[in-house]
Amino acid sequence: MSPVSLAPPLNTSHLEQLQPVDVVRWAAEQHGADRLVVTASFGDAVLVHVANSAAPGIEIALLDTQYLFAETHWFAKQLVERFDLNVSVLHPEVAPDDLWLTDPTECCRLRKVDPLQRALDGKAVWITGLRRADSATRATAPVAAFDLAKQVLKVNPLATLSDDDVALYEQLHDLPHHPLSDRGYPSIGCWPCTRPVAPGDDKRAGRWADSAKTECGLHL
Ligand code: SF4
Repeated sequence: MSPVSLAPPLNTSHLEQLQPVDVVRWAAEQHGADRLVVTASFGDAVLVHVANSAAPGIEIALLDTQYLFAETHWFAKQLVERFDLNVSVLHPEVAPDDLWLTDPTECCRLRKVDPLQRALDGKAVWITGLRRADSATRATAPVAAFDLAKQVLKVNPLATLSDDDVALYEQLHDLPHHPLSDRGYPSIGCWPCTRPVAPGDDKRAGRWADSAKTECGLHL
């Protein structure tokens, strides 16, 4: 078992005031762009556009759970071609099964949490699309904090963005939308565990809608 180091001293209060692209630039300056990895669900184009604008060619990991919507694969391909993204696709080390029916926590561990650990191997910084406006459980997400369990600096450059901020960013940069986002899917995960939501509902209400589960485990 590798030794676990304590969180290094880190002053991140100034990051609250920075634009998302400048947060990623700060992380690249601190650690070197090749030690950063972005995990993107490709539910929208904002995170990958921000990260690639700040550090062109930055590694972006797509965790292919075997159960992503066909539209997500299509959308990711469009973004890779349009913005020349450096995307690595990580696959689970298990064959497709029906675990999502009986044990979604274990299914997410095998298909998301374990592949994430491989994506973080050798990296110093993990960049995510977490936003405080996503849900009540994410309302206090920091812009940057050392993740003791994963032993990386976790950076959430979009943390402070409201939904309106995201819409404005998409408009300013003429970003395309995921095909499902206009069909009632404000949060897009795996097809067995994602449903459309009614207008005004919590954005993540369609995720694991029949259970108390609210997170896949990546951010726990
Ligand atoms: S979201 Fe559902 S299908 Fe996807 S990994 Fe988790 S339990 Fe499995």
